[in-house]
Amino acid sequence: MITEEVRLWKLTRRHVRERLEQGLIKGAILPTGSTEQHNEHLAMEHDTASAAHVAYQAALQLYPQTVVATPMAVGISEHWMEFPGTLSLRPETFFTVAYDICESLKRHGIEHILICNGHAGNGPLGNQVEEFSQKLGIDIQFASYWAAYSKELVDELMESKDCPAHAAEFETSFAMAAFPENVQWKGVDYEAANLDIKSESYAPRDPVYFRAGRDYATPKKGRVMADIAIDWVANKMQEMMDG
Ligand SMILES: [Zn+2]
Repeated sequence: MITEEVRLWKLTRRHVRERLEQGLIKGAILPTGSTEQHNEHLAMEHDTASAAHVAYQAALQLYPQTVVATPMAVGISEHWMEFPGTLSLRPETFFTVAYDICESLKRHGIEHILICNGHAGNGPLGNQVEEFSQKLGIDIQFASYWAAYSKELVDELMESKDCPAHAAEFETSFAMAAFPENVQWKGVDYEAANLDIKSESYAPRDPVYFRAGRDYATPKKGRVMADIAIDWVANKMQEMMDG
């Protein structure tokens, strides 16, 4: 009897070996996220947690064909370094880690890898995967999970009509649905926080995002949006495995 666990880091070597020997594993989803500021109320891990959540639920739908590789929990976040707690990798470091994980999976015989991204700053990885695919001779694709949402859908479901934005209505709703312990309104007093944000382009948006998260986010919206992304990622992975 084989466990129904799909998260690679929760499996034993026996589990992985037996599934591979039986030809059961065809694909892997690699979540990429960040550890970075998410306004006053959301945990630093939001992008990693959301990408991992989407990847995990999608892989469960595809069991036993797909596993979730260990999430990359630090991304390209130089633009948030003025906020203490943010961790950032240089782009080349980030690309190298992603490549090495893909290579590891390939060496175990996994030929379809979907990178499920949860942090907009990691977008440049999308320009690298064709080269990764060619070097490794396997099928690697990159998608930010919110690519699942059309503009019409966002207009319909999001009061702010803004998605993904940053720690605003969408991400706050997602967290309320998937990991409510990461939403921490207690003790938040935005006006009193004296933020003095240095980034001129971002400073005017921070209070807008804050209010959108506070006033519009609901767990129900989060559940609907998460489910759409999960189905979309599962479909994409299935298409890759079908070749
Ligand atoms: Zn985020």
